[in-house]
Amino acid sequence: MREENCIFCKIANGEIPSATVYEDDGFRVILDMGPASKGHALILPKSHFKDICAADAQTAAGLLPLAAKIGSAMKAGLGASGFNVVQNNGTSAGQTVFHLHVHVIPRYDGGPKIVAWEPGKAEPDELARTAAKISAVL
Ligand code: 5GP
Ligand code: ZN
Repeated sequence: MREENCIFCKIANGEIPSATVYEDDGFRVILDMGPASKGHALILPKSHFKDICAADAQTAAGLLPLAAKIGSAMKAGLGASGFNVVQNNGTSAGQTVFHLHVHVIPRYDGGPKIVAWEPGKAEPDELARTAAKISAVL
């Protein structure tokens, strides 16, 4: 399953060269060309899915264990002290390439600083109402 004109299909399948850190039958892991920190990697399934909702069960199940393996290698190989696993779905969530991918971003003591969300405030009744709206459509 490939999509014509998809840059990540071409990279994942080796048509376009990339700084590859890992490859198996299902995935290629490359370095992001605009890294948030040194070693910022992208896990690319070799098959095309536009986002996590479109992925088949085998692909979805492979992503998190692979992210853990890559993150551990960043700690052992790059001296990272932690890492973030980030996966964007949809434009409003920051997705810019519409081929499923998972970011693995090594974090180092001393930076760089990477801005995440600002924690908000919510009362328990509001949390309960919001939870009910999601569970109702599961
Ligand atoms: P998104 O915002 O869709 O979650 O992430 C897309 C990521 O892919 C960005 O961090 C961007 O820097 C990276 N990226 C986009 N095009 C290329 C490319 O051609 N090569 C590499 N190595 N990274 C890319
Ligand atoms: Zn693709």
